[in-house]
Amino acid sequence: MSGLSSAQFVAYAREQIRTADVILDAHTAHGTMCSCGRTLPCSVTLTITRRRAHYVHVLARVVTNRAIGRARVRPGT
Ligand SMILES: [Zn+2]
Repeated sequence: MSGLSSAQFVAYAREQIRTADVILDAHTAHGTMCSCGRTLPCSVTLTITRRRAHYVHVLARVVTNRAIGRARVRPGT
């Protein structure tokens, strides 16, 4: 995350996921072929699916860390 704030990284990761979804919409399976003309498994689908999963994973970690950072323990409880 070098150079990006936590909020900037969250926005970046969400954009990467949205972009991946747009790309994946253009790669649907039809029998043994992908709609892009490649045979299944489509190499583009595999690459983009991995990339999307990466950003979902790191986004979840960042959001979880931010939530934990905001948690407060009430004194005297
Ligand atoms: Zn494809």
